Amino acid sequence: MSRKSLPENLHLDTRAVREAVAKSQHGENSEALYLTSSFVQPDAATAARRFAGEEEGYIYSRFTNPTNASMEQRLAALEGTEACIGTSSGMAAILLLCMGLLKAGDHVICSRSVFGSTIKLIAGEFGKFGVQSSFVSQTDVAEWQAAVKPNTKLLFAETPTNPLTEVCDIRALADVAHAAGALLAVDNCFCSPALQQPAKLGADLIIHSGTKYLDGQGRVVAGAICCSKKLIDEKFMPVMRSAGMSLSPFNAWVVLKGMETLGIRMHAQSDNALALASWLEQHPKVARVHYPGLKSHPQHALALRQQSGKGGAVLSFDVKTGDVEQARKHAFHVIDQTRVMSITANLGDTKTTITHPASTSHGRLTEEQRLAAGIGQGLIRVAVGLEHIDDLKADLARGLDTLV
Ligand SMILES: *Cc1c(COP(=O)(O)O)cnc(C)c1O
Repeated sequence: MSRKSLPENLHLDTRAVREAVAKSQHGENSEALYLTSSFVQPDAATAARRFAGEEEGYIYSRFTNPTNASMEQRLAALEGTEACIGTSSGMAAILLLCMGLLKAGDHVICSRSVFGSTIKLIAGEFGKFGVQSSFVSQTDVAEWQAAVKPNTKLLFAETPTNPLTEVCDIRALADVAHAAGALLAVDNCFCSPALQQPAKLGADLIIHSGTKYLDGQGRVVAGAICCSKKLIDEKFMPVMRSAGMSLSPFNAWVVLKGMETLGIRMHAQSDNALALASWLEQHPKVARVHYPGLKSHPQHALALRQQSGKGGAVLSFDVKTGDVEQARKHAFHVIDQTRVMSITANLGDTKTTITHPASTSHGRLTEEQRLAAGIGQGLIRVAVGLEHIDDLKADLARGLDTLV
Protein backbone atom coordinates (compact mmCIF):
# COMPACT_ATOMS: atom_id res chain seq x y z
CA MET A 1 0.00 0.00 0.00
CA SER A 2 1.66 3.22 -1.03
CA ARG A 3 1.15 6.39 0.90
CA LYS A 4 1.69 10.07 0.21
CA SER A 5 5.11 11.31 1.29
CA LEU A 6 5.43 13.36 4.49
CA PRO A 7 5.12 17.15 4.25
CA GLU A 8 8.26 19.26 4.64
CA ASN A 9 9.17 21.24 7.77
CA LEU A 10 7.72 18.79 10.28
CA HIS A 11 8.77 19.15 13.91
CA LEU A 12 11.33 16.79 15.41
CA ASP A 13 8.74 14.96 17.53
CA THR A 14 6.65 14.27 14.43
CA ARG A 15 9.61 13.00 12.41
CA ALA A 16 10.67 10.78 15.31
CA VAL A 17 7.34 8.96 15.03
CA ARG A 18 6.60 9.14 11.30
CA GLU A 19 9.85 9.08 9.32
CA ALA A 20 10.56 5.64 7.78
CA VAL A 21 11.08 4.06 4.38
CA ALA A 22 9.71 0.58 5.01
CA LYS A 23 6.29 1.36 3.61
CA SER A 24 3.30 -0.66 4.65
CA GLN A 25 2.68 -3.87 2.72
CA HIS A 26 -0.53 -4.93 4.46
CA GLY A 27 -1.71 -1.76 6.15
CA GLU A 28 0.32 -2.38 9.30
CA ASN A 29 0.65 0.80 11.37
CA SER A 30 3.90 -0.20 13.07
CA GLU A 31 6.86 -0.42 10.67
CA ALA A 32 7.55 -3.97 9.53
CA LEU A 33 10.68 -5.83 10.60
CA TYR A 34 12.48 -7.39 7.63
CA LEU A 35 14.39 -10.30 9.13
CA THR A 36 15.98 -11.59 5.96
CA SER A 37 19.60 -12.03 5.00
CA SER A 38 19.05 -11.69 1.26
CA PHE A 39 16.52 -10.31 -1.24
CA VAL A 40 15.11 -12.19 -4.23
CA GLN A 41 15.85 -10.53 -7.59
CA PRO A 42 13.14 -10.46 -10.28
CA ASP A 43 15.56 -11.65 -12.98
CA ALA A 44 19.26 -12.10 -13.69
CA ALA A 45 19.65 -8.80 -15.56
CA THR A 46 18.16 -6.80 -12.65
CA ALA A 47 20.45 -8.65 -10.23
CA ALA A 48 23.44 -7.70 -12.39
CA ARG A 49 22.41 -4.03 -12.50
CA ARG A 50 21.84 -3.91 -8.74
CA PHE A 51 25.18 -5.53 -7.97
CA ALA A 52 26.87 -3.06 -10.32
CA GLY A 53 25.20 -0.18 -8.47
CA GLU A 54 23.39 0.94 -11.62
CA GLU A 55 19.95 0.42 -10.09
CA GLU A 56 18.60 0.88 -6.57
CA GLY A 57 17.42 -2.26 -4.86
CA TYR A 58 18.03 -4.50 -1.90
CA ILE A 59 20.56 -7.28 -2.35
CA TYR A 60 21.90 -8.52 0.97
CA SER A 61 21.49 -7.35 4.58
CA ARG A 62 25.22 -6.80 5.11
CA PHE A 63 24.81 -3.90 2.64
CA THR A 64 21.29 -2.57 3.15
CA ASN A 65 17.92 -3.68 4.55
CA PRO A 66 14.53 -1.85 4.56
CA THR A 67 14.26 -1.91 8.37
CA ASN A 68 17.77 -0.48 8.69
CA ALA A 69 16.92 2.09 6.01
CA SER A 70 13.91 3.20 8.07
CA MET A 71 16.02 3.60 11.18
CA GLU A 72 18.67 5.48 9.18
CA GLN A 73 16.13 7.80 7.58
CA ARG A 74 14.48 8.57 10.92
CA LEU A 75 17.80 9.28 12.66
CA ALA A 76 19.05 11.44 9.76
CA ALA A 77 15.81 13.44 9.95
CA LEU A 78 16.32 14.01 13.68
CA GLU A 79 19.98 15.00 13.29
CA GLY A 80 19.23 17.22 10.29
CA THR A 81 21.72 15.41 8.03
CA GLU A 82 21.17 14.21 4.50
CA ALA A 83 21.82 10.56 5.30
CA CYS A 84 22.79 8.00 7.94
CA ILE A 85 24.41 4.57 8.01
CA GLY A 86 23.63 2.09 10.79
CA THR A 87 26.36 -0.04 12.40
CA SER A 88 26.46 -3.00 14.79
CA SER A 89 27.48 -0.81 17.77
CA GLY A 90 28.60 2.70 18.66
CA MET A 91 32.23 1.55 18.53
CA ALA A 92 31.59 -0.01 15.11
CA ALA A 93 30.41 3.44 13.97
CA ILE A 94 33.71 4.98 15.11
CA LEU A 95 35.62 2.09 13.48
CA LEU A 96 33.75 2.71 10.22
CA LEU A 97 34.40 6.46 10.53
CA CYS A 98 38.16 5.92 10.88
CA MET A 99 38.38 3.19 8.22
CA GLY A 100 36.41 5.31 5.78
CA LEU A 101 38.23 8.61 6.31
CA LEU A 102 41.81 7.84 7.34
CA LYS A 103 44.92 6.26 5.87
CA ALA A 104 48.51 5.81 7.11
CA GLY A 105 50.17 9.18 7.64
CA ASP A 106 46.92 11.05 8.38
CA HIS A 107 46.47 12.89 11.67
CA VAL A 108 43.46 13.03 14.04
CA ILE A 109 42.84 15.48 16.88
CA CYS A 110 40.63 14.21 19.67
CA SER A 111 39.61 15.38 23.11
CA ARG A 112 41.35 13.63 26.02
CA SER A 113 37.97 13.20 27.73
CA VAL A 114 36.13 11.12 25.10
CA PHE A 115 34.83 7.59 25.67
CA GLY A 116 37.75 5.34 26.71
CA SER A 117 37.34 2.83 23.87
CA THR A 118 37.42 5.70 21.36
CA ILE A 119 40.88 6.72 22.61
CA LYS A 120 42.06 3.09 22.50
CA LEU A 121 40.72 2.64 18.97
CA ILE A 122 42.20 5.84 17.53
CA ALA A 123 45.55 5.89 19.37
CA GLY A 124 46.05 2.13 19.74
CA GLU A 125 44.47 0.27 16.83
CA PHE A 126 44.78 2.98 14.17
CA GLY A 127 48.19 3.95 15.58
CA LYS A 128 49.33 0.43 14.60
CA PHE A 129 48.38 1.23 10.99
CA GLY A 130 50.29 4.53 10.94
CA VAL A 131 47.52 7.00 11.79
CA GLN A 132 48.85 9.81 14.01
CA SER A 133 46.78 11.29 16.82
CA SER A 134 46.91 14.19 19.29
CA PHE A 135 44.79 14.33 22.43
CA VAL A 136 43.84 17.77 23.68
CA SER A 137 41.74 19.61 26.26
CA GLN A 138 37.95 19.12 26.07
CA THR A 139 37.27 22.79 26.70
CA ASP A 140 40.26 24.83 25.45
CA VAL A 141 39.75 25.51 21.71
CA ALA A 142 43.26 27.04 21.49
CA GLU A 143 44.74 23.59 22.23
CA TRP A 144 42.82 22.09 19.28
CA GLN A 145 44.00 24.92 17.06
CA ALA A 146 47.62 24.47 18.18
CA ALA A 147 47.47 20.72 17.44
CA VAL A 148 46.55 21.22 13.76
CA LYS A 149 49.15 19.85 11.30
CA PRO A 150 49.24 19.86 7.49
CA ASN A 151 48.11 16.19 7.53
CA THR A 152 45.18 16.71 9.97
CA LYS A 153 42.10 15.08 8.42
CA LEU A 154 39.69 14.66 11.31
CA LEU A 155 38.73 16.35 14.59
CA PHE A 156 36.75 14.11 16.95
CA ALA A 157 34.72 15.52 19.85
CA GLU A 158 32.16 14.23 22.32
CA THR A 159 29.95 16.48 24.44
CA PRO A 160 29.06 16.32 27.26
CA THR A 161 31.63 13.74 28.37
CA ASN A 162 31.44 10.78 30.66
CA PRO A 163 31.53 10.97 33.70
CA LEU A 164 32.45 14.63 34.37
CA THR A 165 29.98 16.14 31.84
CA GLU A 166 32.54 18.55 30.34
CA VAL A 167 31.08 20.50 27.42
CA CYS A 168 32.98 21.59 24.31
CA ASP A 169 32.01 24.31 21.86
CA ILE A 170 30.92 22.47 18.69
CA ARG A 171 30.76 25.56 16.50
CA ALA A 172 34.26 26.71 17.51
CA LEU A 173 35.68 23.23 16.78
CA ALA A 174 33.91 23.11 13.40
CA ASP A 175 35.62 26.41 12.53
CA VAL A 176 39.03 25.01 13.52
CA ALA A 177 38.41 21.85 11.47
CA HIS A 178 37.19 23.62 8.37
CA ALA A 179 40.01 26.21 8.40
CA ALA A 180 42.40 23.22 8.45
CA GLY A 181 40.60 21.48 5.58
CA ALA A 182 39.55 18.71 7.99
CA LEU A 183 36.18 17.26 9.03
CA LEU A 184 34.59 17.48 12.49
CA ALA A 185 32.93 14.36 13.93
CA VAL A 186 30.84 14.70 17.10
CA ASP A 187 29.78 11.78 19.29
CA ASN A 188 26.21 12.83 20.21
CA CYS A 189 25.34 9.91 22.52
CA PHE A 190 24.80 11.92 25.67
CA CYS A 191 22.36 14.55 24.41
CA SER A 192 20.86 12.77 21.40
CA PRO A 193 19.30 14.89 18.63
CA ALA A 194 16.36 15.63 20.92
CA LEU A 195 18.59 18.13 22.76
CA GLN A 196 21.59 18.75 20.52
CA GLN A 197 21.98 18.74 16.75
CA PRO A 198 25.71 19.10 15.97
CA ALA A 199 25.11 19.38 12.20
CA LYS A 200 23.37 22.73 12.81
CA LEU A 201 26.54 23.90 14.59
CA GLY A 202 28.81 22.92 11.71
CA ALA A 203 29.74 19.30 12.50
CA ASP A 204 30.22 17.16 9.37
CA LEU A 205 29.63 13.74 10.96
CA ILE A 206 27.54 12.74 13.96
CA ILE A 207 28.33 9.48 15.74
CA HIS A 208 25.75 7.51 17.72
CA SER A 209 25.66 4.60 20.04
CA GLY A 210 22.05 3.55 19.47
CA THR A 211 22.55 1.47 22.61
CA LYS A 212 21.99 4.60 24.69
CA TYR A 213 19.10 7.09 24.39
CA LEU A 214 17.98 6.14 20.86
CA ASP A 215 16.86 2.69 22.03
CA GLY A 216 16.26 4.23 25.43
CA GLN A 217 15.39 1.04 27.25
CA GLY A 218 18.72 -0.77 27.38
CA ARG A 219 17.71 -3.60 25.05
CA VAL A 220 20.12 -3.66 22.12
CA VAL A 221 23.60 -2.64 20.99
CA ALA A 222 23.59 -0.48 17.86
CA GLY A 223 25.34 2.49 16.27
CA ALA A 224 25.24 4.95 13.39
CA ILE A 225 27.02 7.72 11.50
CA CYS A 226 24.91 10.66 10.25
CA CYS A 227 26.46 12.75 7.47
CA SER A 228 26.15 13.67 3.78
CA LYS A 229 24.98 11.10 1.24
CA LYS A 230 28.25 11.64 -0.65
CA LEU A 231 30.37 10.56 2.34
CA ILE A 232 28.22 7.47 2.82
CA ASP A 233 28.28 6.50 -0.85
CA GLU A 234 31.97 7.17 -1.39
CA LYS A 235 33.63 6.52 1.99
CA PHE A 236 31.46 4.38 4.23
CA MET A 237 29.35 2.03 2.10
CA PRO A 238 32.39 0.46 0.37
CA VAL A 239 33.94 -0.26 3.81
CA MET A 240 30.63 -1.58 5.14
CA ARG A 241 30.33 -3.99 2.20
CA SER A 242 33.81 -5.39 2.66
CA ALA A 243 34.27 -5.14 6.44
CA GLY A 244 30.68 -5.93 7.52
CA MET A 245 30.13 -3.99 10.76
CA SER A 246 26.45 -4.13 9.77
CA LEU A 247 23.53 -3.43 12.06
CA SER A 248 21.20 -6.37 12.72
CA PRO A 249 17.71 -5.56 11.31
CA PHE A 250 16.16 -6.64 14.60
CA ASN A 251 18.31 -4.15 16.53
CA ALA A 252 17.57 -1.48 13.91
CA TRP A 253 13.85 -2.09 14.43
CA VAL A 254 14.16 -1.76 18.23
CA VAL A 255 16.04 1.54 17.79
CA LEU A 256 13.50 2.70 15.18
CA LYS A 257 10.66 2.15 17.66
CA GLY A 258 12.72 3.58 20.55
CA MET A 259 13.20 6.86 18.71
CA GLU A 260 9.43 7.44 18.72
CA THR A 261 9.63 8.39 22.40
CA LEU A 262 13.09 10.02 22.28
CA GLY A 263 11.95 13.64 22.70
CA ILE A 264 9.62 13.01 25.58
CA ARG A 265 12.13 10.75 27.36
CA MET A 266 15.09 13.12 26.97
CA HIS A 267 13.14 16.06 28.35
CA ALA A 268 11.69 14.10 31.28
CA GLN A 269 15.02 12.43 32.13
CA SER A 270 16.86 15.77 31.89
CA ASP A 271 14.33 17.39 34.22
CA ASN A 272 14.76 14.50 36.67
CA ALA A 273 18.56 14.88 36.44
CA LEU A 274 18.40 18.62 37.14
CA ALA A 275 16.20 18.03 40.18
CA LEU A 276 18.54 15.30 41.48
CA ALA A 277 21.67 17.40 40.80
CA SER A 278 20.20 20.44 42.61
CA TRP A 279 19.29 18.27 45.58
CA LEU A 280 22.74 16.63 45.68
CA GLU A 281 24.44 20.03 45.54
CA GLN A 282 22.72 20.97 48.83
CA HIS A 283 23.57 17.68 50.56
CA PRO A 284 26.16 18.05 53.38
CA LYS A 285 27.91 14.76 52.41
CA VAL A 286 28.42 15.80 48.76
CA ALA A 287 31.61 17.71 47.90
CA ARG A 288 30.82 18.57 44.30
CA VAL A 289 28.22 17.87 41.60
CA HIS A 290 29.15 17.76 37.90
CA TYR A 291 26.08 18.60 35.83
CA PRO A 292 25.82 21.07 32.90
CA GLY A 293 22.35 22.16 34.01
CA LEU A 294 23.73 23.64 37.27
CA LYS A 295 24.95 27.23 37.46
CA SER A 296 28.11 25.93 39.17
CA HIS A 297 29.11 24.01 35.99
CA PRO A 298 32.06 25.74 34.25
CA GLN A 299 30.39 25.54 30.80
CA HIS A 300 26.80 26.11 32.02
CA ALA A 301 25.97 28.92 29.58
CA LEU A 302 27.47 27.10 26.58
CA ALA A 303 25.66 23.89 27.54
CA LEU A 304 22.27 25.58 27.74
CA ARG A 305 22.86 27.30 24.39
CA GLN A 306 24.03 24.12 22.68
CA GLN A 307 21.65 21.63 24.32
CA SER A 308 18.21 23.22 23.92
CA GLY A 309 18.38 24.73 27.41
CA LYS A 310 18.83 21.29 29.05
CA GLY A 311 21.64 19.66 30.99
CA GLY A 312 21.05 16.12 29.74
CA ALA A 313 20.34 13.09 31.92
CA VAL A 314 23.82 12.16 33.19
CA LEU A 315 25.42 13.64 36.30
CA SER A 316 28.26 12.72 38.61
CA PHE A 317 29.19 13.76 42.11
CA ASP A 318 32.02 13.43 44.62
CA VAL A 319 31.21 12.21 48.11
CA LYS A 320 32.74 14.40 50.80
CA THR A 321 35.54 12.54 52.48
CA GLY A 322 38.79 12.93 54.42
CA ASP A 323 41.30 10.75 52.60
CA VAL A 324 41.60 8.72 49.41
CA GLU A 325 41.30 5.33 51.16
CA GLN A 326 37.99 6.41 52.64
CA ALA A 327 36.72 7.91 49.39
CA ARG A 328 36.31 4.55 47.68
CA LYS A 329 34.72 2.99 50.77
CA HIS A 330 32.25 5.84 51.01
CA ALA A 331 31.37 5.75 47.30
CA PHE A 332 30.80 1.98 47.48
CA HIS A 333 28.59 2.49 50.56
CA VAL A 334 26.36 4.99 48.74
CA ILE A 335 26.11 2.71 45.68
CA ASP A 336 25.41 -0.41 47.74
CA GLN A 337 22.63 1.29 49.74
CA THR A 338 20.57 1.95 46.60
CA ARG A 339 17.59 -0.33 46.08
CA VAL A 340 15.94 1.30 43.07
CA MET A 341 18.89 2.24 40.84
CA SER A 342 20.72 -0.45 38.85
CA ILE A 343 24.44 -0.90 39.48
CA THR A 344 25.52 -1.09 35.84
CA ALA A 345 27.73 0.88 33.52
CA ASN A 346 25.11 1.34 30.80
CA LEU A 347 23.35 4.67 30.39
CA GLY A 348 20.50 6.06 28.36
CA ASP A 349 17.99 3.68 29.89
CA THR A 350 14.61 4.60 31.40
CA LYS A 351 16.00 2.77 34.47
CA THR A 352 18.41 4.91 36.48
CA THR A 353 21.91 3.43 36.60
CA ILE A 354 24.69 4.13 39.11
CA THR A 355 28.41 3.39 38.78
CA HIS A 356 31.81 3.99 40.34
CA PRO A 357 33.88 5.13 37.32
CA ALA A 358 37.31 4.76 39.01
CA SER A 359 36.84 0.99 39.43
CA THR A 360 34.74 0.23 36.31
CA SER A 361 34.69 2.34 33.12
CA HIS A 362 38.00 4.03 34.04
CA GLY A 363 39.47 1.06 35.92
CA ARG A 364 42.10 0.39 33.24
CA LEU A 365 43.78 3.77 33.78
CA THR A 366 46.62 4.17 36.27
CA GLU A 367 45.79 6.12 39.45
CA GLU A 368 47.89 9.00 38.09
CA GLN A 369 46.00 9.09 34.74
CA ARG A 370 42.72 8.89 36.60
CA LEU A 371 43.53 11.81 38.87
CA ALA A 372 44.74 13.84 35.88
CA ALA A 373 41.35 13.15 34.32
CA GLY A 374 39.63 14.30 37.52
CA ILE A 375 38.13 10.90 38.27
CA GLY A 376 38.70 10.35 41.98
CA GLN A 377 37.79 7.32 44.12
CA GLY A 378 34.89 9.27 45.62
CA LEU A 379 33.21 9.96 42.27
CA ILE A 380 29.81 8.39 41.50
CA ARG A 381 28.03 8.63 38.14
CA VAL A 382 24.26 8.52 37.87
CA ALA A 383 22.49 8.21 34.50
CA VAL A 384 19.03 9.37 35.48
CA GLY A 385 15.96 7.54 34.23
CA LEU A 386 12.21 7.97 34.49
CA GLU A 387 11.52 6.84 38.06
CA HIS A 388 9.82 9.35 40.40
CA ILE A 389 12.33 11.94 41.57
CA ASP A 390 11.47 11.45 45.27
CA ASP A 391 12.32 7.74 45.03
CA LEU A 392 15.67 8.56 43.40
CA LYS A 393 16.54 11.11 46.10
CA ALA A 394 15.57 8.62 48.82
CA ASP A 395 17.71 5.96 47.13
CA LEU A 396 20.84 8.15 47.36
CA ALA A 397 19.91 9.63 50.75
CA ARG A 398 19.93 6.13 52.26
CA GLY A 399 23.68 5.86 51.70
CA LEU A 400 24.66 9.53 52.01
CA ASP A 401 22.85 10.01 55.34
CA THR A 402 24.55 6.97 56.89
CA LEU A 403 28.15 7.85 55.94
CA VAL A 404 30.39 8.03 59.01
C1 LIG B 1 28.55 3.73 24.86
C2 LIG B 1 29.28 4.78 24.12
C3 LIG B 1 29.97 4.48 22.94
C4 LIG B 1 30.07 3.08 22.40
O1 LIG B 1 28.85 2.57 22.04
P1 LIG B 1 28.54 0.99 21.99
O2 LIG B 1 27.20 0.93 21.40
O3 LIG B 1 28.63 0.49 23.39
O4 LIG B 1 29.60 0.38 21.12
C5 LIG B 1 30.59 5.51 22.28
N1 LIG B 1 30.55 6.77 22.75
C6 LIG B 1 29.90 7.10 23.88
C7 LIG B 1 29.88 8.50 24.34
C8 LIG B 1 29.24 6.11 24.60
O5 LIG B 1 28.60 6.44 25.74
